[in-house]
Amino acid sequence: MEALKQKILSEGKVLSESVLKVDSFLNHQIDPELMQEIGREFADRYADAGVTKILTLESSGIAPAVMTGLTMGVPVIFARKRKSLTLTNHLYSAEVYSFTKREANEISISQDFITSEDTVLIMDDFLANGQAVIGMINILQQADAQLAGIGIVIEKGFQEGGRKIRNQGYRVETLANIAELTDGQVTFMKEEKV
Ligand code: 5GP
Repeated sequence: MEALKQKILSEGKVLSESVLKVDSFLNHQIDPELMQEIGREFADRYADAGVTKILTLESSGIAPAVMTGLTMGVPVIFARKRKSLTLTNHLYSAEVYSFTKREANEISISQDFITSEDTVLIMDDFLANGQAVIGMINILQQADAQLAGIGIVIEKGFQEGGRKIRNQGYRVETLANIAELTDGQVTFMKEEKV
């Protein structure tokens, strides 16, 4: 998606050869117009997939997921990373190792919101080694729900997550796929459609 790529090039900060900071429009301050465009793009790509719910992970997946849910007319559920006083039992949970925080978190959703009747689109802000997405797939398996596919705003194609998940036969759509982060520069994958 060209507008997203331009935003990454103009505002993204390469923190290391494996970490990109996009705090000015996605991970801290949020650009609502760009999120709306992102939502329309995912809604368009998954228009015929029979999606009934979107599942994401707090907190940075929520903005693009809500915009996609708004366009598709389906509810959005975000898995919680911390135990909450109001989310105590009747849960589906999975262990996820966090790429940015370097620690394992248990992610959970209430069993009330995803059932075997649902066809779910999984979304997240970044795809790195795939741990977050694999944790959410695990939760859908516990719920016996169908997986329509995965929608990722920024994939780091030089890390293994995308290949691992596609090799399992799942559909993965990404709006900007990064080939490398070297010398402070972002280089996108060549085959990426714009
Ligand atoms: P994975 O589980 O695929 O290894 O990593 C994806 C998760 O880690 C995402 O939910 C995202 O929040 C975070 N993440 C991974 N790589 C980056 C990165 O380069 N920049 C930022 N801001 N977050 C990242």
